[in-house]
Amino acid sequence: MTNVLILFAEDRAAQGLAGAAEQLGGETRAILVDGDYQIEETLDALVDACRGADVILLANDTYSQEIAPRLAHRLGGACVGDGVGVARVDGRVRVTRQVYGGKAHAVVEVRRSPAVLWLRARSFSGGAAAASAAELSRDPGARSGRRSTRIVERNVSAQTHARLEDAQVIISGGRGIGGPEGFRDELEPLAKMLGAQMAASRAACDAGWVPPTWQVGQTGKKVAPELYVAVAITGASQHMAGISEARNIVAINIDPDAPIFKHARYGIVDDYRKVVPLLRERLTNLGNHEGKR
Ligand SMILES: Cc1cc2nc3c(=O)[nH]c(=O)nc-3n(C[C@H](O)[C@H](O)[C@H](O)COP(=O)(O)OP(=O)(O)OC[C@H]3O[C@@H](n4cnc5c(N)ncnc54)[C@H](O)[C@@H]3O)c2cc1C
Repeated sequence: MTNVLILFAEDRAAQGLAGAAEQLGGETRAILVDGDYQIEETLDALVDACRGADVILLANDTYSQEIAPRLAHRLGGACVGDGVGVARVDGRVRVTRQVYGGKAHAVVEVRRSPAVLWLRARSFSGGAAAASAAELSRDPGARSGRRSTRIVERNVSAQTHARLEDAQVIISGGRGIGGPEGFRDELEPLAKMLGAQMAASRAACDAGWVPPTWQVGQTGKKVAPELYVAVAITGASQHMAGISEARNIVAINIDPDAPIFKHARYGIVDDYRKVVPLLRERLTNLGNHEGKR
């Protein structure tokens, strides 16, 4: 029984993946892939590096989601994505996934080896094993005849924050924000005060008010913060699918019947343009008060 963790450069998922590996038991080794990779070369090298492993664990970043099914295919194994739990039962690997927007769990038994799994790494408490990852050694010239795709250009967006998937506090806005000004003038100052990262519903992203990378939900990012503040977001099941692992949800919505309130630990029914400035004022006062102590 060998687990292999595949980690991408600057990946903060290492501890979570190591925690998942601990739950599976057996030996664990970690492989580090640098961020500037070519997919075909990397897959060739990973096929060699992962031989003998019966479980291969990746995180929920875009690199991992691209590589996992292709790696499973090349190794003759099976791939399961978006896992929030893993276990080994009677020698078989089982993966728990959320379905129906987090209202139910499906347990998938993997019948082919190796099991190549990408997981919501923050769903697992940290394990110790990932500290010393060996760098993946690649031969850029190897098997180049098989290369069917090649990354010709990378445009890295100026990212000042950590990945949204790793954020502890998230301020998220929906269509009810009304435009980019609301994000810029109301939500972003609040996020700065809380050391939070910004996110949004698909409606707000599709409207072009905020970057598509902010989208949380079924077709966006799956996040697991300690605190998720949903401002003017209705709480559609596709949005909730991305925040079902959030520890505490605070909802601010003008509509008392908005579905988000069913999931929220705290709810405020009012116009966000009234509530958010009050929250900022309160935080400023708290800060001043703390400063005087
Ligand atoms: C296949 C598929 C995949 C999808 N994937 C995603 C996904 O990944 N992520 C996602 O988010 N959505 C996704 N959606 C879309 C989803 O169904 C909803 O349409 C979307 O989440 C709605 O976004 P919203 O809550 O911001 O907007 P709305 O539904 O328009 O809600 C706006 C909310 O703002 C409130 N509001 C209005 N004005 C104010 C104010 N001044 N103060 C306070 N509250 C106010 C309203 O009461 C309302 O509740 C998907 C849909 C499909 C079909």
